[in-house]
Amino acid sequence: MELGAADFIKKPYEAPEIIRARVKRTIELSEDRMIIQAAERDELTDTYNKDVFVEYVNKMDQYNRSHMNNMLVFNVDKFHIFNEIYGREEGDNLLRNLAESLKDIARMNDGIVGRLQSDYFVMYLNHQSDYDKLYSSIHEELVDHHIEDNVRLRMGIYRVVDIHETVDSRIDRAKLVCDELRSTPLVNYHIYDKESQDKLIFHERLVIDLPKAISERQLEVYYQPKYRVTGDKPVLASAEALIRWNHPEYGFLSPGVFIPLFEENFSIKFLGHFVWNEAAERIAIWKKKYGKSIPISVNVSRVDMYETNMVSMLEDIVKRNGIDPSELYLEITESAYSADPDQLTETVRTLTELGFKIEIDDFGSGYSSLNTLASLPFDILKLDMQFVRNMNKNDKTKKMVQIVANIAKFMDVPLVAEGVETEDQMNQLKELGYQIIQGYYFSKPVNAEEFEKFLKEE
Ligand code: C2E
Ligand code: MG
Ligand code: MG
Repeated sequence: MELGAADFIKKPYEAPEIIRARVKRTIELSEDRMIIQAAERDELTDTYNKDVFVEYVNKMDQYNRSHMNNMLVFNVDKFHIFNEIYGREEGDNLLRNLAESLKDIARMNDGIVGRLQSDYFVMYLNHQSDYDKLYSSIHEELVDHHIEDNVRLRMGIYRVVDIHETVDSRIDRAKLVCDELRSTPLVNYHIYDKESQDKLIFHERLVIDLPKAISERQLEVYYQPKYRVTGDKPVLASAEALIRWNHPEYGFLSPGVFIPLFEENFSIKFLGHFVWNEAAERIAIWKKKYGKSIPISVNVSRVDMYETNMVSMLEDIVKRNGIDPSELYLEITESAYSADPDQLTETVRTLTELGFKIEIDDFGSGYSSLNTLASLPFDILKLDMQFVRNMNKNDKTKKMVQIVANIAKFMDVPLVAEGVETEDQMNQLKELGYQIIQGYYFSKPVNAEEFEKFLKEE
């Protein structure tokens, strides 16, 4: 019975009706189990769904109190790109094969596998001491299941020390580490540690603090000038609005720290609304004070593009502040475009029709650059900063900078270079046909009051 038998019959045999009843009961039990199994499992990959996975982890802990277990979260790096290149069906195949590999590994380690969402899997297994070995055995399994070598699997590890902690929170921790590996392409797995914990707490704090930061004006919009360099002398052409957070406890925070967090939990729309409104107000104030319209570009996150009321929100902001939509530029990053091309194209078209100017930000850093240009209405092209940075380190990069200039000329749109820090860079870009320059060479982003010195100089 300990090895898994459902029942047994002892000699000498009991009355036939009793045997029949026992057999019937056994069959019923196994049928029930099959029904339960079908409901518990994810249809595509035949792994447990999240709720069932959590339930089983609790059971495992209950029966195995003395054991230490590990929680692992897996994710396929850039799965959406794989899907776009090879199609949905191949994407599904990849997930199925990956699930098979993970189940093999789980089986060898007294573990179970669940699917959290799309390409996120979770595994609970007995304690491991050698993660290099574990990762390479997973990798071998992947190769056995014909998963191409260029697919990168990220693994976040939470070594469970306390089974009294909720399963959800253990999964969260492993997932946090797994997500962090996005930014370290050469490292494929990492263990949750004190540093990760501090980061988690820090992130939670920022999310909680956002509404107060807006109402107490801890958030401040900075402006960086963009200069037109086609004439003898640079002329102030426009500005970019960049958010800053002066946090009462953590001090001055740059957007790279908090924007991704707010995108993840969709609170970015509150921030967007705040920044767009500030910028519109500023355009109106400066126009009145200096008699000249200086357009300001604001950043639009890819999450904003999915908001159903984004267009009406922008219309409202422009109307309320008495400015023309053409004075507010919308900087949209290329990656925003590729997420759901149809819906985004539609939104961008509507915005263009209303008179807003669309500026493609960080051009060249995504993977579908040329595609984007062919299918989208836009007014201004902005080269990704990395190109400027590496322009003189690498001949190929320089060539690319030139090619982008040719593309812009061909499409007849103004071209902006950002991250320009030296006179030498500026001159080279000018020569290549870049009309507008933004960067520390002219100025760092500064607050509204300080920005007025550029307006006065004009
Ligand atoms: P971005 O839109 O590409 O903005 C350009 C970034 O480059 C800014 O960083 C700017 O301060 C920096 N920069 C400008 N010139 C130079 C230079 O010469 N050298 C160097 N090294 N850096 C330069 P920042 O302000 O930290 O913003 C980072 C990113 O955060 C922005 O990239 C943008 O994607 C995002 N962001 C900033 N403000 C907002 C906002 O209000 N809403 C949204 N959704 N995103 C924002
Ligand atoms: Mg920008
Ligand atoms: Mg940029």
